[in-house]
Amino acid sequence: MDSLIEMGPIRPPSEAQSLLIRVTRNCPWNQCEFCHTYKGETFSIRSLEEVQKDIDQAKEIADQIRQLSWRMGQAGKIDQTLLRHFLSQPKAQNPAWQTVAGWLYFGGSQVFLQDGNSLMRKTGDLVAILRYLREKFPSIQRITSYGRARTLAKKSVKELKELREAGLTRIHIGMETGYEPLLQYIKKGVTAEEQITAGRNVVASGISLSEYIMPGLGGERWWREHAVESARVLNQIDPDFIRLRTLYVRKNMPLYQKVEKGEFVRPSDDQIVIEIRLFLETLDSIHSTVVSDHILNLLEEIQGRLPEDKEKMLALIDRYLAWPKKKRFQFRVGRRLGYLRNLDDLDDQNLLLRVDQIIQKVQRSIREEQGKDVPEQEIEKEIHALMENYI
Ligand code: SF4
Repeated sequence: MDSLIEMGPIRPPSEAQSLLIRVTRNCPWNQCEFCHTYKGETFSIRSLEEVQKDIDQAKEIADQIRQLSWRMGQAGKIDQTLLRHFLSQPKAQNPAWQTVAGWLYFGGSQVFLQDGNSLMRKTGDLVAILRYLREKFPSIQRITSYGRARTLAKKSVKELKELREAGLTRIHIGMETGYEPLLQYIKKGVTAEEQITAGRNVVASGISLSEYIMPGLGGERWWREHAVESARVLNQIDPDFIRLRTLYVRKNMPLYQKVEKGEFVRPSDDQIVIEIRLFLETLDSIHSTVVSDHILNLLEEIQGRLPEDKEKMLALIDRYLAWPKKKRFQFRVGRRLGYLRNLDDLDDQNLLLRVDQIIQKVQRSIREEQGKDVPEQEIEKEIHALMENYI
């Protein structure tokens, strides 16, 4: 069923409760080697009328849901009972109704502007969209967007301030790395200097800034440079948030060809943990909040504000690294299967038993297929493949 509101394919994990308003389609760059999201799609800017029509549609749906709430004696409140009742109606089968209903249930206060680089739009257009959104939904408290560093390096602080005043509260930049040769290798289309200029522009405008770093992206060859140079660039920006999103190479990514040729070797999960340690250690004199909120990250608990929580984050990593090999293996498997989130979860004997059972099952099936026992890393590779479902 076609949605009554056009929606793009992705949003940052932190925008799970946001209403998605698509202001551009796809990515104007679309060349990054580790990115598959918009491959084969063409970038376009949606007309102001189209975007406003979607906002009107969302408003119409929201009004109808609220009216239903009043009719059910819930005074406009959207709780689970109302949500269930509403979602059982035929019209609620349309994705737009489901999206708006879910959004209202979570408070109706956050919006994310899609797709990959909404800041490509003229500042005046974006200001108009932001004002229109705020006018139709006074409940909105946060509006965020992805922005490419190259685009943001060209926006003046004055323009960014206009966007902030119109209601843009946060920009997410996929920085990935600050290491110049790696930026070229992955075809990011931006230099480290541009990353710094872009980040500083956003910070100076008063818009909250979230920078994404991709652990593992340096491969075995450049893991040290990747960690140190990324931290060096961030030290000069001091963003509000530093978010970790670990590399996972899928078959539909250009980087996969390099993996196949043996030109790029993804570090093991444990090597990536060591890389993150070096990265955190090198972050200096900044006040960012570090967040590890992506399912692909092994250690979700790495979280805290710099500088005061740095030692706590390093201690968590050291605790994991100090575990015996078998325990680390069990944790990695349990995490990939979605049974475990935190290091302490491994103390739960029931969870541990389930993890061991899965390991034995995978071991058995590989043995049957190959007629021999295989090392732990082969089993882990099988389980790693499950991560594909999460992206
Ligand atoms: S700029 Fe972002 S959306 Fe575009 S190709 Fe690169 S990672 Fe993907």
